[in-house]
Amino acid sequence: MAIYTLPELPYDYAALEPVINPQIIELHHDKHHAAYVKGANDTLEQLDEARDKGAWGAINGLHKSLAFHLSGHVLHSIYWHNMTGDNGGGEPLAADGAGDLADAITESFGSFAGFKAQLTKAAATTQGSGWGVLAYEPLSGRLIVEQVYDHQGNVGQGSVPILVFDAWEHAFYLQYKNQKVDFIEAMWRVVNWQDVARRYAAAKERDDVLLLAP
Ligand code: MN
Repeated sequence: MAIYTLPELPYDYAALEPVINPQIIELHHDKHHAAYVKGANDTLEQLDEARDKGAWGAINGLHKSLAFHLSGHVLHSIYWHNMTGDNGGGEPLAADGAGDLADAITESFGSFAGFKAQLTKAAATTQGSGWGVLAYEPLSGRLIVEQVYDHQGNVGQGSVPILVFDAWEHAFYLQYKNQKVDFIEAMWRVVNWQDVARRYAAAKERDDVLLLAP
């Protein structure tokens, strides 16, 4: 039984032009994201089979595969909603319901400009495949930037991603070729701050999720 399903895109393939062209969005969603969904489901099935048979010879590979595909599914599911072709970009504003997020960014990073520089650098300097991520860290109650390897590495346990920049070549190569920095800088023009603010508020409500002393 399929546990995970590919979510619909919240817009059409051309909605993010000129920042991301329709061909990239179509392949990225319909092929790449779909493959992570299938991979997560297939791996869970293989783990079911391993338990049934008591056959644990492939256990390390299966757990690596589960982390990779499930994390790919989670990050892409957030990614599509983090972007909009309809008045995206700029900074989070109180007038758009993003005042708390704007304050948290200033408190956590000193300034919006400092945060923007850090996330841009983190995404643009990924080695191989990875992501730049803004995450809510529940132990401290602050925001942190993470530089994620593949989909699952270099991540602090418990942090909740609220704004994710895909820095894999499949996210930009057809349009930006080898100019990853140009792509990441362009990404800021389509950030959906209302979506990021909604994710920040939801993560913050789950402050005690780790049940650890602050
Ligand atoms: Mn991707």
